[in-house]
Amino acid sequence: MNKESEPTSWGSATQAIRSGFAPGSETEHSPPIYMNSSFVYTSAAQAAARFDQSEPGNIYSRFTNPTVQAFERRLATLEGGQRCIATASGMSAILTCVMALLKTGDHVLVGRNSFGSTINMFRNFLLPFGIQVDFLDPVDVASWGAACRTNTRMLLVETPSNPLMELADIAALAEVAHAHNALLVVDNCFATPVLQQPLKLGADVVVHSATKYIDGQGRALGGAFIANAELADKAHGFVRNAGPCMSPFNAWVFLKSLETLPLRMQAHCANALQLAEFLQAHAAVERVYYPGLASHPQHALAKAQMQGFGGMVSFEVRGGQAAAWQVVDATRMLSITGNLGDTRSTITHPATTTHARIGPEARAVAGVGDSLLRVSVGLEDIEDIRSDLARGLDALLA
Ligand SMILES: *Cc1c(COP(=O)(O)O)cnc(C)c1O
Repeated sequence: MNKESEPTSWGSATQAIRSGFAPGSETEHSPPIYMNSSFVYTSAAQAAARFDQSEPGNIYSRFTNPTVQAFERRLATLEGGQRCIATASGMSAILTCVMALLKTGDHVLVGRNSFGSTINMFRNFLLPFGIQVDFLDPVDVASWGAACRTNTRMLLVETPSNPLMELADIAALAEVAHAHNALLVVDNCFATPVLQQPLKLGADVVVHSATKYIDGQGRALGGAFIANAELADKAHGFVRNAGPCMSPFNAWVFLKSLETLPLRMQAHCANALQLAEFLQAHAAVERVYYPGLASHPQHALAKAQMQGFGGMVSFEVRGGQAAAWQVVDATRMLSITGNLGDTRSTITHPATTTHARIGPEARAVAGVGDSLLRVSVGLEDIEDIRSDLARGLDALLA
C-alpha cells in the first residue's frame, strides 16, 4: 500500500498498527517476510526498465525489499517524515548521515554526551577521512552557534541523552543549524516517535537505533534514517551501494513491534515516573535524573517538546562506587546489562561499563560519576521493580 492511500486523519496508534502494509495476492492479514535476495522479471524489456528505473519495482534486496519497505513506510509515517531508509543497526544509520550528506573538509558539531560508538566513530574513523568534528554540550545552545564555521554542515544531538537525561532544545538547534546552512540530525532513540517528533520541531533528519524501544524486546539489531525525499534519496543511494541494509527478518520483527510501540511507551513512562518518585524520596539516593520530575532542570523543555518523559531513569546513591555496586548486586530480578528499551528492566553502572573506555576526565565532563546507576525501566509490575531496588538501597542505610 502506498502512504497516499491511507487516511491522513489516522491517529498515531492506528498508524502504528495499520500504516505501511496492505495484504498482497495471498490476502495475508499480517505482514509476511520476503526472505529473498533477488526478484525476477517477465521479459528482458522489463528487466531493463527496472534497472533504468523507468518502471518502479524490486531488483535486489540490498536496494529494496517489500518487508523492509513496509517497516520504512510505517516508521516514516510515525515520525512525520516523507521517507525512511532502514539500516542494519543504529550506528549504520549515523554512518549513513555522514557518507550520504557530507564530504571531506566538512565540519560537524556532535553532542558531547552522545552514544559512545558515535563519538568513537567520529574520532577514530571519520577524522582520518577529513571530517572535522567538535563535541559540545547540547544543553548550551549558544555554544553551538558560536562553534559553527563556514564549513559546518551538520549538527548531531541525542535527546534525552544517555545516561543523564539531558535535553537538547530541538527547535532552537534547528534555527542555529539553518542559520549556518547546516542540517540538524536528531538521534530519537530514547524518546521514539511516540514521545517526540523532531522533524516537526525543525530537525532535518531523525536517526534511530531500532534495537532499543522500536524492537523493545531485545531481539534484533537495526536502525533507520528518516527525512524528506531529497535527503532520503541520498541516504538510499549510499545504503543500496555500500550495503548497510536491514535484513527482511529484522524488518518484520520491527514492523510487528511498531504495532505495540504507543502502548509500550505509555507503560514505560508510567513505570519510570513511579520509580523516579520512589528513588527521589529514598534516603540512600543523592539525586535522580528523570525529565518527568519537577526537579529536572529542563522539566519545562521536556513538557514543551515531548509527549511523555520516557523509560530511562538514572540516579546517584550515597557512598560512591562501592554503594552503587552493592545496589546492582542486591537485585534479583533486574537484568545487569547495558542494553535498554526492553520489556525487562535493566540496571547498569555506566562508569565501569558503557562509559569505562572514555576515561576519567571525559567521564567527569560528561557528569558520569562513580555513584551513578542507570535503570531502563521495563514493563514488569512497578511494585516488583521498586522492591528489587529497595533491597540494595535499604541495606545502604542499615
Ligand atoms: C544503541 C544506540 C545507538 C547505536 O545503535 P545500534 O543499533 O546498537 O547500532 C545509537 N544511539 C543511541 C542513543 C543508542 O542508544
